[in-house]
Amino acid sequence: MKNKILIANRGEIAVRIIRAAKELGYETVAVYSSADESSLHVKLADEAICIGGNQSKDSYLNKTNILSAAISTGCNAIHPGYGFLAENSEFVEMVESCNIAFIGPTSKTISMIGDKATARNIAKSHGIPIVEGSDGVVSDQHEGLKIAKKIGYPVMIKASNGGGGRGISIVRSDEEFLSAFERTSMEAETSFGDKSLYIEKFIESPRHIEIQIISDTFGNFVHLFERDCSMQRRNQKMVEETPSPILNDLLRRRIGLAAIKLAKAIHYVNAGTLEFIVDPKGNFYFIEMNTRIQVEHPITEAITGIDLVKEQIKIAYGKELSFKQRDIKINGHAIECRINAEDAMHGFTPSPGKITNILFPGGMGVRIDTHIYPGYEIPPYYDSLIAKLIVHAPTRREAVKKMRVALEQFVIEGIHTNIEYQYLIMHNTDFIKGQYDTGFIARFNALVEAESSE
Ligand code: ADP
Ligand code: ADP
Ligand code: MG
Repeated sequence: MKNKILIANRGEIAVRIIRAAKELGYETVAVYSSADESSLHVKLADEAICIGGNQSKDSYLNKTNILSAAISTGCNAIHPGYGFLAENSEFVEMVESCNIAFIGPTSKTISMIGDKATARNIAKSHGIPIVEGSDGVVSDQHEGLKIAKKIGYPVMIKASNGGGGRGISIVRSDEEFLSAFERTSMEAETSFGDKSLYIEKFIESPRHIEIQIISDTFGNFVHLFERDCSMQRRNQKMVEETPSPILNDLLRRRIGLAAIKLAKAIHYVNAGTLEFIVDPKGNFYFIEMNTRIQVEHPITEAITGIDLVKEQIKIAYGKELSFKQRDIKINGHAIECRINAEDAMHGFTPSPGKITNILFPGGMGVRIDTHIYPGYEIPPYYDSLIAKLIVHAPTRREAVKKMRVALEQFVIEGIHTNIEYQYLIMHNTDFIKGQYDTGFIARFNALVEAESSE
């Protein structure tokens, strides 16, 4: 029987996965919503099946339709990409019970570590530092208020099942607490179908540092160093780089070891990311684990030379990792800019519509992962991410320069994008020095707005 993979996703990541599968000689099946009929992943896959209407809940979140598509086309594996059903343990359980390989960890692992409040407790029980906060999910707003008073403001209220930066609030006083709790609870319910919340102390001016790990069914665990994702707007990443400008070798080794320790403790299999925040004194705290491929994985691929998606597929088909920790070295510096269909200069409002013309940048060390093409119409129903621009150069300074040139030569006509905004970031003195924290974009926005209103 030929190996055949169904890709349960859309957009750039579906294209990314199809390419990896084809390079391995595997057949591919794309699924699409009615809005995505003319999307690139549909054209590139060997077969494509419509799984429902425009809204995600009718198509990319429709578990039974996706499984039926996999069974009827004879697929023996499903790659979930990121978002949608990638971290849905119920879906993964269904896949497992159909004897189809899920390209990711088991449903049991996902239900355990995917719940962010539970993940904190697991990390703590293995001696991994976590941010001070509630012991698991908070039962109601009154218990929440007590905990907030105890740990001291500011605090963060977070959805236990949250992701993508949504379902998170910062609270700075008792007065704000009850209404913020209510609001976040409702947002969690509507966005994630689960209103469970937990509380963490808000760490001021932190860096977001995450560790990419990968492991196989033979018990081999390797970490592929860090990604610095501190450039965030509303807790959502915009620019990522590796290595992090703030880590020295000692801290890098300590965080890497903590990540591997936790991954081993939960018998994790496949690619995963452990997210940490690092305070200005260099203390690090585990915040969550993403049990899937991440948007920013290409920068790790650039500096390590490892194709993470191909490795994910091979692991799911029972192959052993072909490298050991000692084989992995950091080679140069990589930066990714997320290119979004949004009017960055006017409040980041989404900008769907028809792309009339595109000119892609290129050259040595420039990579673009995208699903857009001239004439493509961006539907309004999904994420605004339309491309990822990744550069790789021997040094950080050269990588920044390469990114500037690439952004300058990246033309997308017909819609608004954040290309110009990213270009401005690449010229900011603090960014150039590597001195930024998760509050950078909020401060930078104020500057950009002041300048554009002059
Ligand atoms: P990454 O964590 O890979 O760096 P994001 O946090 O931006 O990137 O998440 C990637 C995509 O997945 C985004 O479209 C985001 O909205 C979505 N996403 C992440 N986690 C969840 C979740 N738990 N539920 C629904 N969507 C999610
Ligand atoms: P998501 O599941 O949406 O990715 P995370 O828990 O990873 O949510 O948090 C998203 C972002 O919010 C982090 O990358 C970080 O910038 C910020 N953040 C999370 N927890 C804290 C905290 N305790 N203090 C300060 N910032 C935090
Ligand atoms: Mg996160």
